[in-house]
Amino acid sequence: MAQVQRMSRLMIKTLRDDPADAETLNHKLLVRAGYVRRTSAGIWSWLPLGMTVLENISRIVREEMDAIGAQEVLLPALLPKEPYEATGRWEEYGDLLFRLKDRRGGDYLLGPTHEEIFTQIVKDQCTSYKDLPVMIYQVQTKYRDEARPRSGVLRGREFLMKDSYSFDTTDEGLAESYALHRAAYRKIFDRLGFDYRIVSAVSGAMGGSASEEFLAPAAAGEDTFVDCPSCDYAANTEAVTFKPAEPAADPAGHPAMEDLDTPDTPTIETLAAHLGVPASATLKNLLVKVDGEIVAVGVPGDREVDLGKLGEHLAPAVVDLVTAEDFEGRPDLVRGYVGPQGLDKVRYIADPRVARGTSWITGANKPDTHVRNVVCGRDFEVDDYLDVVVVEAGDPCPACGTGLKLDRAIEIGHVFQLGRKYADAFQLDVLGQNGKPVRVTMGSYGLGITRAVAALAEQTADEQGLCWPREVAPADVHVVAAGKALQTELALSLAEQLGEAGVRVLVDDRAGVSPGVKFTDAELIGVPTIVVAGRRAGEGVVEVKDRRTGEREELPVAEAISRLTAV
Ligand code: ATP
Ligand code: MG
Repeated sequence: MAQVQRMSRLMIKTLRDDPADAETLNHKLLVRAGYVRRTSAGIWSWLPLGMTVLENISRIVREEMDAIGAQEVLLPALLPKEPYEATGRWEEYGDLLFRLKDRRGGDYLLGPTHEEIFTQIVKDQCTSYKDLPVMIYQVQTKYRDEARPRSGVLRGREFLMKDSYSFDTTDEGLAESYALHRAAYRKIFDRLGFDYRIVSAVSGAMGGSASEEFLAPAAAGEDTFVDCPSCDYAANTEAVTFKPAEPAADPAGHPAMEDLDTPDTPTIETLAAHLGVPASATLKNLLVKVDGEIVAVGVPGDREVDLGKLGEHLAPAVVDLVTAEDFEGRPDLVRGYVGPQGLDKVRYIADPRVARGTSWITGANKPDTHVRNVVCGRDFEVDDYLDVVVVEAGDPCPACGTGLKLDRAIEIGHVFQLGRKYADAFQLDVLGQNGKPVRVTMGSYGLGITRAVAALAEQTADEQGLCWPREVAPADVHVVAAGKALQTELALSLAEQLGEAGVRVLVDDRAGVSPGVKFTDAELIGVPTIVVAGRRAGEGVVEVKDRRTGEREELPVAEAISRLTAV
């Protein structure tokens, strides 16, 4: 028998107005419908209805993790510093990490993710190749001191994550564990009713190689991804790489370079306006420092340099922006008027669009002057071609060349093939078949449980309120007793019969609450089917309404029950 939850006994207070600080739909609705309450910035309390949704999601995640043979464990959230020092993440995490001291002055942290501790556990538990492969996971509270904990539970400073880790002795083994997780994630997000895309991602601070993100397209998303309208290519914008452009015409055959008097035009906008040319005809040269050495980066004037991508290309070298002091003692570098021609002492990195044979308007390396007809391959050479521009809608798909679409999305999951980074840090070896130690290779797989609640709310809600997919909803059916004794009696008996048949029911039997308020609350709470014991209760007829489509139908109780127990 499924549970019948009576609203007269449920701790719930719905709100008519949006919370003052709420910017996103999920934040507004989850607070108004009584699922969560804010305790502090980015720190949330889960109320009974919210708790049920959270548990439904956790259950589905656990079922699918168990189905691929992953084993559940629970590691502490309060962690000693040393393992994170061993991998460098105690420092690398910077301000994102919550650090604290115990009474003896020892350093601790609140875990943002647990690669270090899982690696140590496996080092302790697994000693032979026979103990591997192993996949372990937990559903646990994570802590990150996010810079902008907005959007409600979408980005918390405390949040619930399912994190799993795989340990293998071979690269093929890792690829298999990764594939198992990827398939499990697809099952989970399908069951949760998500609209999602799997996109290639950059691995970031985690290190490692192959990595993909599960993105739920939504206006409130903080990630941008590209999507090809004609093939199945999709990638996080940070991970898009383009094929180098074909060389253009022969560098010869262009008119000679010619100086242009361009006073007060240190930016591309002022220059393009002054000359009456499109920004794309100009060549923008950004100066950066790479491990302290000044380097110029050339891109068409209508494009922006993606410093993240540049950093990825040049890593482990560190990229910084130049400051006024860097120009001191460098008469060859004229701020705002830099051109690649005659910049012999500076390494020149360019976007592939700055192809051999293309002709540009660019800085003349003297104040208030630009030059036109500056030809790549004739007047300057490119030392390195790198894909360094910020992706824009309409850029060609790297797979098929069609113009790409740009969309916003919420990252709901992330799967990584980490490789041996963490195993190296902790010398995680097992005894191989031949008796020699083998270094273990790892995968790490995160899935935001509290974020999934917010992301689903974003994707499914409408003007009336939340609108949950059935497996996630706090109940299958929301029975509303319009108010009279007869109606309440019918509602409770209907609820009980449904409960006995295994249907999860929320029944609004509150006395002294107007039918209008009850109907509004039912829409707001978002249970997939609403049944009203109202006007025709005396005849034993109820109204059955689909929360999503709004379709309604009057049915005798017996028929309503057989209909609702069939779903
Ligand atoms: P983001 O780019 O959104 O900050 P991330 O890439 O840092 O996320 P991971 O380290 O990959 O996140 O964490 C795994 C999963 O945990 C994410 O896919 C996301 O679903 C969830 N998650 C990460 N940060 C938060 C947060 N602050 N609040 C809620 N869920 C989060
Ligand atoms: Mg991520």
